[in-house]
Amino acid sequence: MNATAIVPAAGAGERMQHRLKKSYISLGGQPILARTLQALDSVESIQQIIVAVYPGDEQLCQKEVLARLTLRAAVTVVAGGATRQQSVHNALALVPDGTQLVIIHDGARPLGSSDLIRSVLALAGARRAATAAVAVKDTIAMVSWKQATVTQDLPRGQLGIIQTPQAFERTLLAQAHAQALQDGFQGTDDASLVLRMGIPVAVVTGSYANIKITTQDDLLLAELILQGGRLA
Ligand code: C5P
Repeated sequence: MNATAIVPAAGAGERMQHRLKKSYISLGGQPILARTLQALDSVESIQQIIVAVYPGDEQLCQKEVLARLTLRAAVTVVAGGATRQQSVHNALALVPDGTQLVIIHDGARPLGSSDLIRSVLALAGARRAATAAVAVKDTIAMVSWKQATVTQDLPRGQLGIIQTPQAFERTLLAQAHAQALQDGFQGTDDASLVLRMGIPVAVVTGSYANIKITTQDDLLLAELILQGGRLA
């Protein structure tokens, strides 16, 4: 099945406390976003990649990332929005009608493997909606940070860390975004928008190496993962 990739990369990166926005910070000698795009480009069924960047950074992305890469897929850069959901929504408007599957992968996850991307696409082809996820290793609880109190324990065996890539039938994803917009719902990923329509989202076991780079610690960890080979 043919696919279009959407890469939300429009975050301001405030938690990184770096002079550059996250996408342009070097990881093993290459901008973070360049690594994410290369992983997607290595999967033959992905024919287009639409990257949502911080508004006003379109040319920066061209110069610092795209001009230095030779990619097989056609790449379009679009201005992102104030939230991740809005950034994906802006990119979704440019997905060609003939696209069967849309795969969404955070620009800030440069260590997602081609195999994982392929597996998520294959499962979405069979089940309409799929995401990568890994089992939770720590105990997770609801916490009131204001009152510095644990408010509710959660059953660890039933919890997963939801990652990207996530892939969906194009029409289903478009419907889920339209519904969320109409309802004023903001999710932190796309699977949550599809789930709230009552559609199950299939899970592929992701990788603990597929981290989202958010803080300086994550950048250090990503460098170690790159140097030391893959984690499980
Ligand atoms: O920090 P968060 O989990 O929201 O970031 C996930 C991805 O979404 C990052 O790659 C980030 O650049 C992107 N994002 C976006 N537009 C925003 C906020 C985040 O594309 N307004």
